[in-house]
Amino acid sequence: MAITTSLDGKTAIITGSNSGIGLGIARELARAGADVVLNSFTDNEDDHALAAEIASAHGVTARYIKADMSKGDACRALIEQAGACDILINNAGIQHVAPIPDFPAEKWDAIIAINLSSAFHTTAAALPMMRKAGWGRVINIASAHGLTASPYKSAYIAAKHGVVGLTKTTALETAEEPITANAICPGYVLTPLVESQIPDQMKAHDMDRDTVVREVMLARQPSKDFATVEQMGGTAIFLCTDAAAQITGTTISVDGGWTAL
Ligand code: NAD
Repeated sequence: MAITTSLDGKTAIITGSNSGIGLGIARELARAGADVVLNSFTDNEDDHALAAEIASAHGVTARYIKADMSKGDACRALIEQAGACDILINNAGIQHVAPIPDFPAEKWDAIIAINLSSAFHTTAAALPMMRKAGWGRVINIASAHGLTASPYKSAYIAAKHGVVGLTKTTALETAEEPITANAICPGYVLTPLVESQIPDQMKAHDMDRDTVVREVMLARQPSKDFATVEQMGGTAIFLCTDAAAQITGTTISVDGGWTAL
């Protein structure tokens, strides 16, 4: 069978997609022909303008739906409101950096809810739609920190390891169906989430920006280069093609060699 990369007629829901990796993936999926549903917890003109911009740039349907991914009911409602879900990209995520004894319990709870439990709720709501449509792709945005650890990021690392486990279970529960579930594990991608960590890291290490980026943040990324949101989008498109129909329950690292160390 010829391998096609067109996503015409598919609907993709991307959680946490009004910035960063989620927005980058939404743009690339739309470029490949998918109708896209953008999401975050806000409901600003800018959010809806992003959807309008994607629709007009790529001639697809693009909508923005507000839903707070820290709340299970809202995660499920996002999928129901979208009305179709051929491609589910679980991307919403937050970060907090502190040693375990000082790690605020409410930050732990929020990170587990947004970075891990949201993917359970959206997947639970999306799988029946994929089964009805006879095709589906679940793509969870985990992290190099879903496969390895670093100090001071306990909740994030626990959540991302959990996402990898959820991915494997989703794959096994859908293994005999035309549905796959995989996790993309990015290394450092320059987005607002990473930008917001730079001042804390500069303070913690008493270094200037360039030094902290190369020697601390990219210390474990052998390429010494940030990955890009377009590369995340391209990897997601690959997972949606027929070439990837037998790729399920695994992780794809896009990390400049981080996990090879
Ligand atoms: P970002 O801060 O630019 O994007 C996070 C997105 O999640 C935003 O759209 C934000 O609005 C949304 N979000 C946050 N809380 C939400 C909530 N309660 N409900 C709905 N949406 C919510 O960050 P990013 O770097 O683009 O991160 C996206 C994903 O990629 C995250 O899961 C992150 O852990 C993962 N990741 C990022 C990197 C990196 O280097 N940037 C590396 C590995 C993994």
